[in-house]
Amino acid sequence: MGLLSGKKVLITGGSRGIGRSMVCKFIEEGADVAFTYRSSEEEANQLMEELSGASGKILGFRSDAGSFQDAEQLIKDVVQAFGGVDILVNNAGITKDTLLLRMSEEQWDQVIQVNLKSVFNLTKHVLRTMMKQRAGSIINISSVVGVFGNAGQANYAASKAGIIGFSKSVAKEVGSRNIRCNVLAPGFIATDMTEQLDDATKANFLSNIPLKRLADPAEVADAAVFLASDMSKYITGQVLSVCGGLNM
Ligand code: NAP
Repeated sequence: MGLLSGKKVLITGGSRGIGRSMVCKFIEEGADVAFTYRSSEEEANQLMEELSGASGKILGFRSDAGSFQDAEQLIKDVVQAFGGVDILVNNAGITKDTLLLRMSEEQWDQVIQVNLKSVFNLTKHVLRTMMKQRAGSIINISSVVGVFGNAGQANYAASKAGIIGFSKSVAKEVGSRNIRCNVLAPGFIATDMTEQLDDATKANFLSNIPLKRLADPAEVADAAVFLASDMSKYITGQVLSVCGGLNM
């Protein structure tokens, strides 16, 4: 029996990268998994086909995590399909990197909307269901950049730091209902997002990682399984870094 056997999971941004890895691991551990994407429909369909033979159900939804209305509808659809939501992973995220002097209002707003407002949108709408269940685990994907800051990423760092304050507050609000809320802070993970970085930035990251390599997305997914499962049932309001010891 898997660590997440019978659990009903929703993961935002599951069509690529870390989210995709989490979808695969959670299915492997026996969960029913719903995931979202915004535009990568082909990748989403491929993933559903790949996992169609698994024991758990797999469902993909096109849903913009930054939209309050989409989030409300999504939770309704997942509850209808699965009968509840035990685990929510707020993973959808984007970057629009540039130095603050050059950053447009649009670049600021887009990153805050997709990375931070999304976490409010989904968490707010899932709480009613989790409170009725008197159980739930919410995992919000931040970044080490939200802890240390990073030149050229003021918008991204602000969104990821915001996730930490939000999650610690939610943990305090709903702990008495047996709902946990934790943060995963990945370091430098090999996905499309880090592929965009220039060589100097990559070299700088690598020189500061004691384990001297990037992580595979599956290594972040392993930590997410831990925070989702009963293995972590006395852990809430915490930030777990998956960063190879990176100290920026
Ligand atoms: P990625 O490879 O670029 O994948 C991002 C995923 O999010 C895709 O499935 C994308 O779907 C989805 N997405 C983006 N905007 C969305 C929206 N508005 N609504 C719904 N889905 C949306 O990124 P990643 O590297 O896996 O990153 C995943 C998370 O980890 C992000 O929150 C990121 O900030 C965080 N993180 C990553 C790293 C790293 O080194 N990679 C480090 C620290 C933290 P579409 O293609 O359809 O848009």
